[in-house]
Amino acid sequence: MKTCSFEQYVETEETNLKLQRRRTFEPKCTISIKGNVLSFIEKQAQRATDKETGGIIGGFGSAEEGTIVISHVSDGGPAANCSPKFFSRDTQYCQRIVDKWASESSGKIDYLGEWHKHFEKDPRPSFRDLQTLKEIARSPDYHVATALLLIIGSSNTRSSLRVFLIDHNGQCVSMDWQFWNKNLNT
Ligand SMILES: [Zn+2]
Repeated sequence: MKTCSFEQYVETEETNLKLQRRRTFEPKCTISIKGNVLSFIEKQAQRATDKETGGIIGGFGSAEEGTIVISHVSDGGPAANCSPKFFSRDTQYCQRIVDKWASESSGKIDYLGEWHKHFEKDPRPSFRDLQTLKEIARSPDYHVATALLLIIGSSNTRSSLRVFLIDHNGQCVSMDWQFWNKNLNT
């Protein structure tokens, strides 16, 4: 896994252009998030009062298949670099976690993307975020054709959790998400 860095959201013309350019990337996909993942992200975000925090997310399905279930989540690791405007996860630590998820699930659970916190009410990806996720979608080191980005905002609760899908061109689509319910999803 390569290093993955984020910076705090800065409103830029480039970001807005990327968000508006949706002609060729229109994923039709149901995204469900398990309760343990939501609780973990909320708890981590609440603790990060003056610095960004984040980690990786895992699960099964893909945008191409039309269903994604996010069932696993990690913190940034002991060597994560957290500051008020920057977050960079501990790549070796996160790689070990992905390997563990895969081996414990006989390969069913794989890396899906990234999550981190923004100090804004209604969080949106920064231009740097889009660049990072584009590189992940392009990289053969990650088993995703499109990468998921979860950003939790300043409420530190799921009410400000936003989900984005980013393709290999860096095109970004804001996606609805739902609480995972085993009666509805398998
Ligand atoms: Zn960000």
